[in-house]
Amino acid sequence: MSAQTAVATRGLSKRYGHVTAVDGLDLDVRRGEIYGFLGRNGAGKTTTIRMLLGLIRPSAGDVEVLGRRIVPGETAAFRGVGYLVETATAYPNLTVRENLEIQRRLTGSQTGAVAEAIALLRLDEYADRRAGQLSLGNKQRLALARALLHSPELLVLDEPGNALDPAGIVEIRDLLRRLSAEQGVTVFMSSHILSEVAHLADRIGIVHEGRLIEECPRDELAAKARAFSTQALTEQERADALLTMDLERYFLMRTGGER
Ligand code: ATP
Repeated sequence: MSAQTAVATRGLSKRYGHVTAVDGLDLDVRRGEIYGFLGRNGAGKTTTIRMLLGLIRPSAGDVEVLGRRIVPGETAAFRGVGYLVETATAYPNLTVRENLEIQRRLTGSQTGAVAEAIALLRLDEYADRRAGQLSLGNKQRLALARALLHSPELLVLDEPGNALDPAGIVEIRDLLRRLSAEQGVTVFMSSHILSEVAHLADRIGIVHEGRLIEECPRDELAAKARAFSTQALTEQERADALLTMDLERYFLMRTGGER
Protein backbone atom coordinates (compact mmCIF):
# COMPACT_ATOMS: atom_id res chain seq x y z
CA MET A 1 0.00 0.00 0.00
CA SER A 2 1.43 3.39 -0.96
CA ALA A 3 1.83 6.27 1.50
CA GLN A 4 -0.76 8.10 -0.61
CA THR A 5 -3.42 5.51 0.18
CA ALA A 6 -5.80 5.90 3.12
CA VAL A 7 -7.80 2.70 2.64
CA ALA A 8 -6.93 -0.34 0.58
CA THR A 9 -8.76 -3.63 0.30
CA ARG A 10 -7.68 -6.69 -1.67
CA GLY A 11 -10.05 -9.49 -2.54
CA LEU A 12 -12.27 -8.45 0.35
CA SER A 13 -15.23 -10.80 0.72
CA LYS A 14 -17.93 -11.59 3.21
CA ARG A 15 -20.33 -14.48 3.00
CA TYR A 16 -23.33 -15.12 5.22
CA GLY A 17 -24.37 -18.70 4.49
CA HIS A 18 -25.44 -18.68 0.85
CA VAL A 19 -25.42 -14.88 0.59
CA THR A 20 -22.24 -13.26 -0.67
CA ALA A 21 -22.58 -9.74 0.74
CA VAL A 22 -19.16 -8.55 -0.49
CA ASP A 23 -17.39 -10.28 -3.32
CA GLY A 24 -13.66 -9.76 -3.99
CA LEU A 25 -13.55 -6.01 -3.48
CA ASP A 26 -10.35 -4.12 -4.41
CA LEU A 27 -10.62 -0.54 -3.19
CA ASP A 28 -8.00 2.19 -3.08
CA VAL A 29 -8.98 5.39 -1.37
CA ARG A 30 -6.37 8.12 -1.72
CA ARG A 31 -5.38 10.37 1.13
CA GLY A 32 -7.23 13.67 1.12
CA GLU A 33 -9.95 12.65 -1.31
CA ILE A 34 -13.68 12.34 -0.81
CA TYR A 35 -14.68 8.90 -2.02
CA GLY A 36 -18.35 8.18 -2.64
CA PHE A 37 -19.24 4.50 -2.25
CA LEU A 38 -22.50 4.28 -4.10
CA GLY A 39 -24.86 1.33 -4.26
CA ARG A 40 -28.48 0.32 -3.97
CA ASN A 41 -29.97 -1.15 -0.81
CA GLY A 42 -28.34 -4.49 -0.09
CA ALA A 43 -25.37 -3.87 -2.39
CA GLY A 44 -22.88 -4.56 0.40
CA LYS A 45 -21.92 -1.05 1.56
CA THR A 46 -22.49 -1.47 5.27
CA THR A 47 -20.83 -4.89 5.29
CA THR A 48 -17.77 -3.38 3.58
CA ILE A 49 -17.64 -0.50 6.04
CA ARG A 50 -17.93 -2.88 8.98
CA MET A 51 -14.92 -4.78 7.66
CA LEU A 52 -12.96 -1.54 7.14
CA LEU A 53 -13.56 -0.74 10.78
CA GLY A 54 -12.69 -4.21 12.07
CA LEU A 55 -16.24 -4.70 13.37
CA ILE A 56 -16.70 -7.97 11.50
CA ARG A 57 -14.22 -10.52 10.19
CA PRO A 58 -13.90 -10.89 6.40
CA SER A 59 -14.46 -14.36 4.92
CA ALA A 60 -11.47 -13.61 2.66
CA GLY A 61 -9.16 -10.79 1.70
CA ASP A 62 -7.30 -7.97 3.43
CA VAL A 63 -7.92 -4.44 4.61
CA GLU A 64 -5.39 -1.72 5.32
CA VAL A 65 -6.37 1.57 6.91
CA LEU A 66 -3.87 4.43 7.24
CA GLY A 67 -1.02 2.01 6.61
CA ARG A 68 -2.05 -0.63 9.12
CA ARG A 69 -3.51 -4.04 8.43
CA ILE A 70 -6.89 -4.39 10.11
CA VAL A 71 -7.31 -7.27 12.51
CA PRO A 72 -10.75 -7.44 14.19
CA GLY A 73 -10.52 -6.58 17.86
CA GLU A 74 -7.32 -4.53 17.56
CA THR A 75 -7.96 -0.85 18.00
CA ALA A 76 -4.56 0.77 17.38
CA ALA A 77 -5.27 1.30 13.68
CA PHE A 78 -8.32 3.41 14.46
CA ARG A 79 -6.74 6.27 16.38
CA GLY A 80 -6.78 8.39 13.25
CA VAL A 81 -10.25 7.29 12.17
CA GLY A 82 -13.64 8.83 12.92
CA TYR A 83 -16.70 6.88 11.91
CA LEU A 84 -20.43 6.92 11.73
CA VAL A 85 -22.09 3.60 11.06
CA GLU A 86 -25.81 3.25 10.48
CA THR A 87 -28.06 4.47 13.29
CA ALA A 88 -26.46 7.10 15.42
CA THR A 89 -26.22 6.12 19.07
CA ALA A 90 -25.75 8.40 22.04
CA TYR A 91 -26.56 8.28 25.75
CA PRO A 92 -30.17 9.47 25.60
CA ASN A 93 -30.32 10.88 29.13
CA LEU A 94 -27.16 12.92 28.78
CA THR A 95 -27.02 16.26 27.02
CA VAL A 96 -25.28 16.86 23.72
CA ARG A 97 -22.39 18.50 25.57
CA GLU A 98 -22.11 15.63 28.07
CA ASN A 99 -22.13 13.03 25.30
CA LEU A 100 -19.32 14.89 23.56
CA GLU A 101 -17.40 15.30 26.82
CA ILE A 102 -17.44 11.52 27.29
CA GLN A 103 -16.14 11.06 23.78
CA ARG A 104 -13.45 13.68 24.42
CA ARG A 105 -12.19 11.82 27.48
CA LEU A 106 -12.33 8.46 25.72
CA THR A 107 -10.22 9.77 22.87
CA GLY A 108 -7.92 11.90 25.03
CA SER A 109 -8.75 14.99 22.97
CA GLN A 110 -8.01 18.52 24.14
CA THR A 111 -10.46 20.48 26.33
CA GLY A 112 -11.57 22.85 23.57
CA ALA A 113 -12.59 19.98 21.27
CA VAL A 114 -16.17 19.78 22.59
CA ALA A 115 -16.91 23.48 21.96
CA GLU A 116 -15.28 23.24 18.53
CA ALA A 117 -17.36 20.22 17.53
CA ILE A 118 -20.56 21.89 18.77
CA ALA A 119 -19.79 24.97 16.69
CA LEU A 120 -18.74 22.95 13.63
CA LEU A 121 -21.97 20.97 13.55
CA ARG A 122 -24.12 24.01 14.49
CA LEU A 123 -25.37 22.32 17.63
CA ASP A 124 -25.06 25.40 19.91
CA GLU A 125 -28.80 25.74 20.33
CA TYR A 126 -29.09 22.10 21.40
CA ALA A 127 -25.92 21.74 23.48
CA ASP A 128 -27.79 21.44 26.78
CA ARG A 129 -30.65 19.28 25.51
CA ARG A 130 -30.77 15.59 26.23
CA ALA A 131 -29.65 13.54 23.26
CA GLY A 132 -32.80 11.39 23.47
CA GLN A 133 -34.95 14.44 22.80
CA LEU A 134 -33.19 15.53 19.63
CA SER A 135 -34.74 15.23 16.20
CA LEU A 136 -33.30 12.47 14.01
CA GLY A 137 -31.35 15.03 12.00
CA ASN A 138 -29.78 16.53 15.10
CA LYS A 139 -28.98 13.06 16.44
CA GLN A 140 -27.11 12.52 13.20
CA ARG A 141 -25.28 15.83 13.70
CA LEU A 142 -24.32 14.75 17.22
CA ALA A 143 -22.99 11.48 15.85
CA LEU A 144 -20.90 13.38 13.31
CA ALA A 145 -19.64 15.71 16.04
CA ARG A 146 -18.52 12.63 17.99
CA ALA A 147 -16.83 11.16 14.95
CA LEU A 148 -14.93 14.41 14.39
CA LEU A 149 -14.02 15.21 17.96
CA HIS A 150 -10.50 13.80 17.91
CA SER A 151 -9.63 15.44 14.56
CA PRO A 152 -9.32 12.18 12.62
CA GLU A 153 -7.32 11.90 9.39
CA LEU A 154 -9.95 9.61 7.93
CA LEU A 155 -13.72 9.79 8.26
CA VAL A 156 -15.74 6.68 7.39
CA LEU A 157 -19.41 7.53 7.06
CA ASP A 158 -22.18 5.06 6.33
CA GLU A 159 -25.06 6.96 4.71
CA PRO A 160 -24.33 10.27 6.48
CA GLY A 161 -27.31 11.93 4.81
CA ASN A 162 -29.77 9.56 6.52
CA ALA A 163 -32.37 11.43 8.53
CA LEU A 164 -31.16 14.83 7.38
CA ASP A 165 -33.49 17.18 5.56
CA PRO A 166 -32.28 18.81 2.29
CA ALA A 167 -30.85 21.84 4.10
CA GLY A 168 -29.07 19.54 6.56
CA ILE A 169 -27.61 17.52 3.68
CA VAL A 170 -26.27 20.68 2.06
CA GLU A 171 -24.79 21.77 5.40
CA ILE A 172 -23.03 18.44 5.99
CA ARG A 173 -21.83 18.44 2.39
CA ASP A 174 -20.22 21.87 2.93
CA LEU A 175 -18.69 20.71 6.19
CA LEU A 176 -17.13 17.61 4.59
CA ARG A 177 -15.85 19.70 1.70
CA ARG A 178 -14.23 22.15 4.15
CA LEU A 179 -12.66 19.34 6.20
CA SER A 180 -11.22 17.86 3.05
CA ALA A 181 -9.98 21.12 1.53
CA GLU A 182 -8.72 22.87 4.66
CA GLN A 183 -7.55 20.00 6.83
CA GLY A 184 -6.79 17.32 4.25
CA VAL A 185 -9.20 14.88 5.90
CA THR A 186 -9.95 11.79 3.80
CA VAL A 187 -13.65 10.97 3.58
CA PHE A 188 -15.04 7.56 2.67
CA MET A 189 -18.81 7.81 2.54
CA SER A 190 -21.48 5.41 1.42
CA SER A 191 -24.81 6.35 -0.05
CA HIS A 192 -27.64 4.88 -2.05
CA ILE A 193 -28.55 8.35 -3.32
CA LEU A 194 -26.57 9.48 -6.31
CA SER A 195 -27.24 13.19 -5.81
CA GLU A 196 -25.74 12.97 -2.34
CA VAL A 197 -22.33 11.91 -3.62
CA ALA A 198 -22.58 13.60 -7.02
CA HIS A 199 -22.11 17.06 -5.50
CA LEU A 200 -19.34 16.07 -3.18
CA ALA A 201 -17.19 13.08 -4.05
CA ASP A 202 -13.91 13.44 -5.96
CA ARG A 203 -14.21 9.81 -7.00
CA ILE A 204 -17.15 7.49 -7.05
CA GLY A 205 -17.15 3.72 -6.77
CA ILE A 206 -20.33 1.88 -7.66
CA VAL A 207 -20.93 -1.34 -5.77
CA HIS A 208 -23.50 -3.84 -6.95
CA GLU A 209 -24.15 -7.30 -5.53
CA GLY A 210 -20.96 -7.01 -3.52
CA ARG A 211 -18.75 -6.13 -6.50
CA LEU A 212 -17.19 -2.88 -7.58
CA ILE A 213 -18.68 -2.45 -11.03
CA GLU A 214 -17.36 1.02 -11.78
CA GLU A 215 -14.86 3.41 -10.23
CA CYS A 216 -13.85 6.77 -11.65
CA PRO A 217 -13.52 10.49 -10.95
CA ARG A 218 -16.86 12.18 -10.45
CA ASP A 219 -16.56 14.32 -13.57
CA GLU A 220 -15.85 11.29 -15.73
CA LEU A 221 -18.90 9.53 -14.35
CA ALA A 222 -20.97 12.66 -14.96
CA ALA A 223 -19.80 12.76 -18.58
CA LYS A 224 -20.72 9.10 -19.06
CA ALA A 225 -24.10 9.70 -17.45
CA ARG A 226 -24.72 12.69 -19.70
CA ALA A 227 -23.90 10.71 -22.82
CA PHE A 228 -26.16 7.92 -21.64
CA SER A 229 -29.06 10.14 -20.66
CA THR A 230 -29.14 11.95 -24.00
CA GLN A 231 -29.86 8.57 -25.56
CA ALA A 232 -31.94 6.92 -22.89
CA LEU A 233 -34.10 9.52 -21.18
CA THR A 234 -37.48 10.38 -22.54
CA GLU A 235 -38.59 14.03 -22.73
CA GLN A 236 -40.90 13.38 -19.79
CA GLU A 237 -38.11 11.92 -17.63
CA ARG A 238 -35.87 14.88 -18.38
CA ALA A 239 -38.66 17.32 -17.53
CA ASP A 240 -39.33 15.45 -14.25
CA ALA A 241 -35.66 15.62 -13.27
CA LEU A 242 -35.53 19.36 -13.96
CA LEU A 243 -38.71 19.94 -12.01
CA THR A 244 -37.32 18.11 -8.96
CA MET A 245 -34.13 20.16 -9.14
CA ASP A 246 -36.01 23.44 -9.40
CA LEU A 247 -38.36 22.55 -6.56
CA GLU A 248 -35.48 21.51 -4.30
CA ARG A 249 -33.67 24.78 -4.96
CA TYR A 250 -36.78 26.80 -4.28
CA PHE A 251 -37.51 24.87 -1.10
CA LEU A 252 -33.95 25.42 0.17
CA MET A 253 -34.10 29.10 -0.66
CA ARG A 254 -37.40 29.54 1.22
CA THR A 255 -36.18 27.60 4.26
CA GLY A 256 -32.82 29.29 4.65
CA GLY A 257 -30.50 26.64 3.17
CA GLU A 258 -27.84 27.83 0.79
CA ARG A 259 -26.64 26.37 -2.44
P1 ATP B 1 -28.43 -0.77 2.69
O1 ATP B 1 -28.25 0.48 1.89
O2 ATP B 1 -29.81 -1.34 2.58
O3 ATP B 1 -27.97 -0.66 4.12
P2 ATP B 1 -26.00 -2.17 1.99
O4 ATP B 1 -25.45 -1.83 0.66
O5 ATP B 1 -25.38 -1.53 3.17
O6 ATP B 1 -27.56 -1.91 1.98
P3 ATP B 1 -25.45 -4.63 3.34
O7 ATP B 1 -26.19 -4.26 4.58
O8 ATP B 1 -23.99 -4.63 3.39
O9 ATP B 1 -25.94 -3.74 2.11
O10 ATP B 1 -26.00 -6.07 2.91
C1 ATP B 1 -25.49 -6.79 1.79
C2 ATP B 1 -26.16 -8.16 1.72
O11 ATP B 1 -25.74 -8.97 2.81
C3 ATP B 1 -27.68 -8.13 1.81
O12 ATP B 1 -28.18 -9.11 0.96
C4 ATP B 1 -27.97 -8.47 3.25
O13 ATP B 1 -29.22 -9.05 3.40
C5 ATP B 1 -26.83 -9.41 3.58
N1 ATP B 1 -26.44 -9.36 5.02
C6 ATP B 1 -25.90 -8.29 5.65
N2 ATP B 1 -25.64 -8.57 6.94
C7 ATP B 1 -26.05 -9.85 7.14
C8 ATP B 1 -26.05 -10.74 8.27
N3 ATP B 1 -25.57 -10.37 9.46
N4 ATP B 1 -26.54 -11.99 8.08
C9 ATP B 1 -27.01 -12.38 6.88
N5 ATP B 1 -27.03 -11.60 5.77
C10 ATP B 1 -26.57 -10.36 5.90
